[in-house]
Amino acid sequence: MKFFCASIGHETSKFSPIPTSLEGYREGGLYLPSTGEGRHIVVEALERGWGAQLRAMGHDVALGPVAWAQPSRPTARDAYALIRRELVESLRAAMPVDGVLLFLHGAQVADGTDDCEGDMLEAVRAIVGPKVPIGVEFDLHGNVSRAMVENTDVLLACLEYPHSDFDSRGRHLVALIEKAATGSLRPVMAHRRVPLLGTYYTTASPMREFVDWAKAFEGKDGILAVSVTHGFAWSDIADCGAGVLVCADGDSGAADKLAGVIADRYFALRAEIRSPLIDTGEAARRALAHEGRPVVVADITDNPGAGAAGDSTFLLRAFLDAGVTDTAVGMIWDPIAVEIAHRAGVGAKLAMRIGGKTGPGSGPPLDVAATVLCCRSDATQNAQGSTAPLGPAAAIQVGGIRIVLNTVRQQVFDPACFENFGIDPRQCRIVVVKSQQHFYETFGPFASKVIYAAPPGTVNMDYRKMTFRNIPSPMYPRDEPPFHAFDREWRA
Ligand SMILES: [Zn+2]
Repeated sequence: MKFFCASIGHETSKFSPIPTSLEGYREGGLYLPSTGEGRHIVVEALERGWGAQLRAMGHDVALGPVAWAQPSRPTARDAYALIRRELVESLRAAMPVDGVLLFLHGAQVADGTDDCEGDMLEAVRAIVGPKVPIGVEFDLHGNVSRAMVENTDVLLACLEYPHSDFDSRGRHLVALIEKAATGSLRPVMAHRRVPLLGTYYTTASPMREFVDWAKAFEGKDGILAVSVTHGFAWSDIADCGAGVLVCADGDSGAADKLAGVIADRYFALRAEIRSPLIDTGEAARRALAHEGRPVVVADITDNPGAGAAGDSTFLLRAFLDAGVTDTAVGMIWDPIAVEIAHRAGVGAKLAMRIGGKTGPGSGPPLDVAATVLCCRSDATQNAQGSTAPLGPAAAIQVGGIRIVLNTVRQQVFDPACFENFGIDPRQCRIVVVKSQQHFYETFGPFASKVIYAAPPGTVNMDYRKMTFRNIPSPMYPRDEPPFHAFDREWRA
């Protein structure tokens, strides 16, 4: 049999100060089948993963585009049109196929298209027809639309935040779609929206137990896959919000009933799974009061992984004012400061202006007396299995704080963001990372304490105070139940 695979995604924040052009996709990873541009990207993204799995099963594989950009504003109209055209044309060229496998984000918005995934899946379904199974793996931060559900046979999200299970969920999806293609399974989907706005750490109780409980239904009584989605509020579209997806073998009634049961429990946990917002001063006080090391402070509102610039200065200012030593902060996205550090050279002592350049969410820039510690242009980090170049980058010392500055905007996934510059985060008293939760997979094991700090910033989590234009209401925590939402009552 022959399977078509493609990988397209963008987590879109309408609150981000960063535009999203085709260059953004080139930076994140772009393979265009029509021209062969970025051929090495498809090798890393698809050939070694789903492609290898399918070939090991004895199948042929046709590869469509790969297009991923860092979270930022809606994709420019022409860039989205090009990526969509590459998908459609490469699929047409591959026909006939026995199955389609797509890795998407789920929260992709383009100028003029609020639901890019639904739009692409409608186009794919129109090409392959109703009988060819379509499987989609996506990020639990995706906003699930009716068009996504109606045009897929298996729609399955990662369950973990941090997303440590993309590989295992992907292998599960490939196995299901392969069986559907042979006719030995007949997957049917049920989707229940849950009126929640939030992001929930599956590393903490009771979200941990809830996800384990939901996942345990898989493989029993014809239930093929269960997904608990968080959604991405900052996309600000009508489909924003949490949800539950259940895929069953042939029995849509069973899928819907289970989705309802899981949705009820999800909503009942709303107050317990909601993370408290710790402001800059409180985060600094808690970090300084903790005896063990290192304390890892996550700058969740300046997370480039959710569309922030990564150049805010609120936490850095607080720790400079506190006079801390043995502290590291990374990575501040500041191409101008990196250029100046590189020109000055290692060992140079100079006045520098760092951070605070992109917008009000970045806070004011800091004028500091800096010493250049390290300059590199070849540093990378492991970003959930793929190698992400940091771009030209530098480490500088300001007082007792070592600061990593970089030029390719991205969140911290990996201690390599510090180690590349001779800084061992395990030896630090305090480490500030620009990331909400993906750092946890690699920093969690050695952190003495983790503090989720919410300074003012682009990724505002105070949903009650945010101005949304398209998100439906009522939704918790903007509204308190009891209320009527998504065709049913939600109890207090
Ligand atoms: Zn995500």
